[in-house]
Amino acid sequence: MELTKLKGVGEKTAEHFAKLDLYTTEDLLKHYPRTYDIYNEPVTIKTLEDLDEESAIEGVVCKSPDIFGSGKIKILSAKLKDMDGTIFEVVFFNMPYLKASLKLGARYVFRGKFKIKGNHYCLEQPKIFTLAKYNELKGTMMPIYPLTKGLSNNMMLKCISQVLDINKDYLEPEFIPSWVREKYELAEHNFAIQNIHFPKEFDDYIKARHRLAFEEFFLFILATLSLKSTKESNPNSFHIKRLKEVDELLNDLPFKLTNAQLRTLDEVRSDLTGDRTMSRLIQGDVGSGKTIVATISLLEVALNGYQGAMMVPTEVLAIQHFESLKSLFETNNLDIKVELLVGSMTKKQKEKAYERIESGESQIIVGTHALIQEKLVYKDLALVITDEQHRFGVCQRENFAGKGNRPHILVMSATPIPRTLAIILYGDLDISIIDEMPKGRLPIKNAVVDESYRKNAESFLNREVSKGHQCYVICPMVEESENFEAANVIDYTKNLKTKLPNCKIEYLHGKLKPKEKEEIMRRFSNREIDILVSTTVIEVGVNVPNATVMLIENAEMFGLAGLHQLRGRVGRGDAQSYCIFMTGKKSEKIKKRLDILNKSNDGFEIARKDLELRGPGDFFGVRQSGDFDFGIADVFADSKTLKECADAAKTIYDSDNTLSSKDNIYLKKKVIEYTGKVLEKINL
Ligand code: ADP
Ligand code: MG
Repeated sequence: MELTKLKGVGEKTAEHFAKLDLYTTEDLLKHYPRTYDIYNEPVTIKTLEDLDEESAIEGVVCKSPDIFGSGKIKILSAKLKDMDGTIFEVVFFNMPYLKASLKLGARYVFRGKFKIKGNHYCLEQPKIFTLAKYNELKGTMMPIYPLTKGLSNNMMLKCISQVLDINKDYLEPEFIPSWVREKYELAEHNFAIQNIHFPKEFDDYIKARHRLAFEEFFLFILATLSLKSTKESNPNSFHIKRLKEVDELLNDLPFKLTNAQLRTLDEVRSDLTGDRTMSRLIQGDVGSGKTIVATISLLEVALNGYQGAMMVPTEVLAIQHFESLKSLFETNNLDIKVELLVGSMTKKQKEKAYERIESGESQIIVGTHALIQEKLVYKDLALVITDEQHRFGVCQRENFAGKGNRPHILVMSATPIPRTLAIILYGDLDISIIDEMPKGRLPIKNAVVDESYRKNAESFLNREVSKGHQCYVICPMVEESENFEAANVIDYTKNLKTKLPNCKIEYLHGKLKPKEKEEIMRRFSNREIDILVSTTVIEVGVNVPNATVMLIENAEMFGLAGLHQLRGRVGRGDAQSYCIFMTGKKSEKIKKRLDILNKSNDGFEIARKDLELRGPGDFFGVRQSGDFDFGIADVFADSKTLKECADAAKTIYDSDNTLSSKDNIYLKKKVIEYTGKVLEKINL
């Protein structure tokens, strides 16, 4: 049902929902809470571990409130005592009517974040409850949804409860066979949907989440199995030979490939020249040298007279790969035509590129999602590589397959998942692992610091620049924002320029035009820029080996996986590299999390420790892990569930691979729906 059919949702609100990709009531039910507001037992100030966390405090008014201020802003301030006798202040803006309730001796529960103001604790604009009201709420979980400008959490709540309560259309028949539900103690689907949004108690939330995570993995694995079977034993329809030009280029590289690279490359080349179409995953941590393997494979295909394409997630990365391929071929006197194709090129530029691709003039094509535009026709596409790519499931490749003969597929990933999980998640791919770093790399030196270190950090940047090295500074924001207090690229650059007048400093962010991004990246690669201040647009893939410092501002605002990727931009050459995590907030929790990165440079280790720190069952704020785009399930946190799903799916598949038995009727319907949905997403 369309969202506009809901009470209180007009065209305007529907437009806001659309920004979150929510169009129907079904979409809305899958819009799971980001976290929950839990009404905990009130605590006392003495026992607070972290001022940054919202807490509930019970207090008695010990001095009648005063009203200050004049004109537009009226401030109400009251002094209270908590149950340990610690004095605190509460402050409300423009709510003078509260004065009447905050009577001397009256008792309330306040919820908010404490600040230290001078020498006392202060709560600004806390939520205020009578004891009776708070007792009523205690223990309940209020969902907090991902939102967008113009949509409040309240609106979300209202709409979702409407769908759940008034309209029972969402109810679906149970599609997971009963033996699976019994074996893995799964709640029923409809129960899970109701309770992920409005759990009556924590236990119901856990059951709901487990069921939904299970069903996401389960459908994903079954979809993979069914798609895999449709293309099992695909014969290799290309005539590719190993060529001596390729071996010559390998010999002329400025470095020697590691054994892991050589082994992987050999596996890929054997596939290309073998009897079956390749479907292979290359897994290797940041900096392990995956690109050269991709490059050689593309070259081999091109020299054999076919086209090869490489798809990457960002324009910055596409531009960089494009430039480095061109220059590598030039240096080696190889006449190969490389084409760049990204979404923000002008219509005219794109059309010209399309023509060259269709005619076969372009031999290697590098780009973003623009590579799978419907209009684009390839002349003779034999190899498709996706680098650092979000994985939409196997279907993405099906889409390429629709563009001519089924090409060979190579997927490159830095997501550090254990082999056992990789085998499940990339069920249809053969796996090569690059588990060795190039020789001569020094481990990156890390530091977690706060504002007091800023001066040192700046002179450190200066010193590295004077040694001929380059630096990155990452800021969370592009420009100043009212809603967030965080470093922004534009002001930061201005400021740093005045502090380090001898350094050439420029900025980069996603909103620049592609030509501008290209120019900045080109100049940074050519050492014409010393310090690049950037948003996370450089998070994946970017490679400038002369850069030795990565300074990340407001490091607390990023997930660990993202920080590990960012750090991977340095330590790519022979020189000692450094990563400085700067935090604005002094919270123990944040310190502990960043300390994981401080102590390890190994992606696997970081993912494992992060999970340990959170503890099992702590799913709030879990960042989706790299390549995988599940709604609620997390590859790491739910790895046990993932393995169970794989077992169950395999059992079902082995006995009924067309899902035709009576037990699997609804399951089949869901799998078809699932594969259809994913395909739809890709076709955009
Ligand atoms: P990633 O695996 O993160 O994609 P890249 O392929 O970008 O890593 O490689 C990182 C850097 O290491 C690049 O500058 C690349 O040229 C260099 N490199 C790759 N292989 C080797 C090697 N065997 N020896 C030395 N440097 C290498
Ligand atoms: Mg890479």
